[in-house]
Formats: sequence, structure tokens, C-alpha cells
Amino acid sequence: MTTTQHEAFTVHRPADPVVVPLPLPPAGHFIAGAFVPGSADSPRIDVVNPATEEVIASIHAGTAGDVDTAVAAAVEAQKSWRNTTPKERADVLNLIANIIEANRAAFEAIESANTGKPPAVAEDDVTSTIDTFRFMAGASRTLTSMAGGDYATDHTSVILREPVGVVGVITPWNYPLLMAAWKIAPILAAGNSIVLKPSEQTPLSTLKLAEVLAGRIPDGILNVVTGQGRIVGQRLSEHPDIALVALTGSVTSGQAVAETAGRSVKRVHLELGGKAPVVVFPDADLQAAAAGVRNAGFWNAGQDCGAACRVLVHEAVAEEFTRYLVNEVGTLVVGAPDSGADVEIGPMISRAHFERVKESLADARAAGLTIALGGSVLEGTGYFIEPTVITDVPSRAPIATHEIFGPVVTVETFSSTEEAVRRANESPYGLSASVWTRDSSLTLRVPKQLDFGTVWVNSHLVLACEVPWGGFKGSGYGRDLSLYALDDYSRTKHVMINHGA
Ligand code: NAD
Repeated sequence: MTTTQHEAFTVHRPADPVVVPLPLPPAGHFIAGAFVPGSADSPRIDVVNPATEEVIASIHAGTAGDVDTAVAAAVEAQKSWRNTTPKERADVLNLIANIIEANRAAFEAIESANTGKPPAVAEDDVTSTIDTFRFMAGASRTLTSMAGGDYATDHTSVILREPVGVVGVITPWNYPLLMAAWKIAPILAAGNSIVLKPSEQTPLSTLKLAEVLAGRIPDGILNVVTGQGRIVGQRLSEHPDIALVALTGSVTSGQAVAETAGRSVKRVHLELGGKAPVVVFPDADLQAAAAGVRNAGFWNAGQDCGAACRVLVHEAVAEEFTRYLVNEVGTLVVGAPDSGADVEIGPMISRAHFERVKESLADARAAGLTIALGGSVLEGTGYFIEPTVITDVPSRAPIATHEIFGPVVTVETFSSTEEAVRRANESPYGLSASVWTRDSSLTLRVPKQLDFGTVWVNSHLVLACEVPWGGFKGSGYGRDLSLYALDDYSRTKHVMINHGA
């Protein structure tokens, strides 16, 4: 077996760029069912296409006052929305799914232009977004509470499931529309209303959603305020009329939100970072494992909290596996989204993030680590970085412990199952992991010992709306998707009726 000599990575760019105008949404906050301008003196934030570095839009930097106006609208809308039946709410969620489907092309174009993601990834995002609304529409109609009963003499207990109230939502830039859907669908399904702050870097698909839903869903149940985390996100975390704040983002932002929310004893739901170990046992199908890492380590250019980015492979097969992995990753196609259907890897989201990934690669090089593939930035316009494989990585090396959030996979080795489990768990994160083996005795024993919210066996990054997603440890708490998300966005009330003589 040999390592294929792969061609140097280059950035595919459209030969003859066709300039199709983007179906941009209005700039402004979406409050009580309509777009409103930001405060007169609020600054604007440029929105950049990371493949071309062009400014494609500009949004309002919201203020605490804008948040207060949106919360007031959400409080008002809550009064009737909370009393709708599950069927009525499901009808609204199904309508949202249908409207997104009818506008699919616009959402895909906006998402690719704002994040640089390849068409295949944008298409998958929109498909998953639609499915999230459809799943939550159906799931919310199956919700039950514990059956009533007499637990004290002459007293009957009834357990009610209620909405929590107004929920503040803060979303990240890596899957802007999909991460918004993971919050909006269960939060509305559970009878709450929302004030949502999209990432200041990628607000366009969320604003587009507001635009296409305006007048089609009850006013005020979904409000959007654009702007910076430390102002708009901060106000959402402290606002007295917000019952719960749900954030998907970095650990630092999660800590800030939890700290602020703690002052008003607000509930918090946190989906934070990850550094997923991929544990490859010696009996595994090594080619399948390598192909799995090619897909799950580099999907969305590795800007994925569940990315298969940290391989732990048994030393007996490390060389063979690494050869397969380098061959696989060497075939990835890097490029701008409009450069062809075969593009698989887009740019980093921003200049700042590009510089961060570049710095991590420079540190790895300076530490003398083996760069088996890639390892450099790609010159020219756009924030492109070569798909990279770093091998012979020692235990606890910084590149293998902190989240890079780019197209970078590291390979470490282990010599026993116990060591593999210990090393995999030696991480501040606990979001997801995978185990690759054909030994059926390991397929449940090892996942049970791993401290991660999702563990795949012979697979990685396969998600479904029916099953929960969320982390342990530094990756946060709370669950997205599944009936567990509906539980997270509900509250339980006990009513006890004395029917004694
Ligand atoms: P980020 O934390 O920089 O930003 C996320 C959101 O938080 C943005 O809207 C931002 O404006 C806001 N924010 C920032 N500081 C804040 C503050 N002090 N108070 C309130 N809000 C604040 O994260 P990002 O760079 O947009 O996204 C990447 C991160 O998100 C990665 O760490 C990734 O792992 C994580 N992520 C996790 C999941 C998951 O399901 N666990 C999914 C996607 C992304």
C-alpha cells in the first residue's frame, strides 16, 4: 500500500463569475411581525462573503433598547400563543417548513454567500432545517405529562406541562439557519415566544426567515434583533421578562451568558464547543474509518462542533490508517461555492478566524509535529486553508486539546483499550465521539465509558431529529432535537386538588 501523491491544494474559483443578485432580506430588527429600523444612532455591521472578502450587506448593531422592545412584543404574543393547542402550534410549524421549502433556493444562495459553504452543505442545511420544523410539529402533539393520581388522602394530583415564557436565543455562524431552526422549532412548539440574536457575522438567513414568515405566523412569537453578543446577547441574558436563554456558541460566550443569567436565576441552555475523539481499534475497517474522518472531519471545512478532528488510533495499525487517511483527505476539493458542484471545502468564516487557525498550524509546526498533509493557508482572495492532517501527535498537545474549528485533523496513538478511553476522556469538552471497531464486545462497553453526549460506533456526525444532541462538561448542558428539547423548553406544574368531604 502506498500513499497517493496528491496534487497540491488549490482554490477553485468560478472561471467566469456570473453575478446573480442575492435575494437579500431587509436590514433591520424584526419585531412584532414587521421590520423596524435600528435606533437612529446605532452603528452598522458589515456582512462579508468569506470566499470573496466582499461586503454583501450591512446590518444594525442593536441596542439594549431594541431588545427591550422585542421582549415586550414577545411577552404580548405569549398571552395568546401559550393557550393554543398542540395542533394549532403544529400547523404553524408545518407552515414554516413549507415556506422555507418554497424559498429553498434563496436560503441556499444566502447561506453560501454569507458563510462560503459549498452548495452541497447549504442544501443539506436547508433540508435539515425543514425536517426539524416538521419533526417538532409532529412530536409536540405526542407530548404527555405524568398521569394524575392520588398521592395524599383525598387529594388528586395533576401534572401540567407549560411553556416557560419568553426565550432568548443566541446563535452561531457555522450553520446560521439550521442552528436557529434547532431552537425556534422546539421553543415555539412548546408554546413559548422568542427573541433571537443571530451571529453578527451571519445574520442574513435568519433575517430572510423573518421576511418570508412576516404576516404568515402570529406577530411577535418570533422576533429577531441583530447585533453584537456583548450588547444584544448580554441584554437577553439579563432581561427580567426572559425566562430562559438558549445559546449555541463558544465556551467563553456560554460562560458569559450563564454568569449574567445567574443573577436573575434564569434558566440556561448551552450548546458549546467540542473536540470529538475518533477512537480507531486495531480490528476496525481502517478504510471505512479513514473515509469517515474525511467526511466528518472536513464537513463545513471542519467548522463543526462535532467534527471528527482528533483521531486516537491503535499503534499496531497507526501507520496503515494514516496512509489511508492522507490518501482520502488529499482528494478533497477546495473552492468558492460558485466554482462547481464538486467543491467540498469552503473558506474559514472570517479573517479573524482564518488568522486563529493559521496560528494554531504555525504553533504545531514550531512544536515539531509531523504535518502529513496540508498545513498552510491558501494564498489569494478568501480565507481558505489547506485540508490538514497532523500525525504522531503527543498526548495533551495543544493542537489536539483545544478547538481549532477548521480543516485540521490530528492523529495520536494508544496501546490499550483502557488508555484509549482515558485519553479520549482527557478533554475539557464532552460533546461527541466515535468508536471504530468490528469487535461486538466493544460496541457498547466503550461508548458507556466515554464522557460525551453522543457516541457513534463505526460512524460519525450522523444526526437525526428523533435523537438528542448536546454535551457534557465544557460542551454545555441542555439538549437540542428530539423530545428532550421539548422538555427543556417546558416547565412542570403540580396542581393538587383536595376533594375530601
Ligand atoms: P461565539 O461564541 O463567538 O458566538 C456565538 C453567539 O454568541 C453569537 O451570536 C455571538 O454574538 C454571541 N455572543 C458572543 N459573546 C456573547 C456574550 N458575552 N453574551 C451573549 N452572547 C454572546 O461562537 P461562534 O464563533 O459564532 O461559533 C462557533 C462556536 O460555536 C464553536 O465553539 C462551536 O463549537 C460552537 N457550536 C456548538 C454547537 C453545538 O451544538 N454544541 C453547534 C454549533 C457551534
